[in-house]
Amino acid sequence: MDCLFCKIAAGEIPSDKVYEDEYVYAFNDIEPAAPVHVLVIPKKHLQSVSHIEDADAEIIGNIFLAIKKIAAKLGIDKDGYRVVTNIGENAGQTVPHLHFHVLGKRSLQWPPG
Ligand code: AMP
Ligand code: ZN
Repeated sequence: MDCLFCKIAAGEIPSDKVYEDEYVYAFNDIEPAAPVHVLVIPKKHLQSVSHIEDADAEIIGNIFLAIKKIAAKLGIDKDGYRVVTNIGENAGQTVPHLHFHVLGKRSLQWPPG
């Protein structure tokens, strides 16, 4: 499949890896929007939240368990952080492979733009 994040998860395109397990790959965003900006993705190609099926529940659960571990490892769990996923055009999703942005180490505004 010609997908940037599938290739990153497979190690075919280099990335700055932060975490990996059976289901999940995480790496630093190439254009960080905060001092900590990690992208957490499933190894399986899923386009977005709108494309998740019942059978993907284990993968999605493991993504959030990975996010918790990554937040502790990077020291953002105490002060707080944000998890964001963009879905489709109105949200500005630019890479059509499900990804969760983990943003931290600065105060984050709400609501987002
Ligand atoms: P989104 O706009 O929600 O689809 O987020 C896509 C994110 O992927 C953006 O924050 C980009 O900076 C990031 N990105 C794109 N290409 C790469 C890459 N090769 N390595 C790391 N991050 C990337
Ligand atoms: Zn993909």
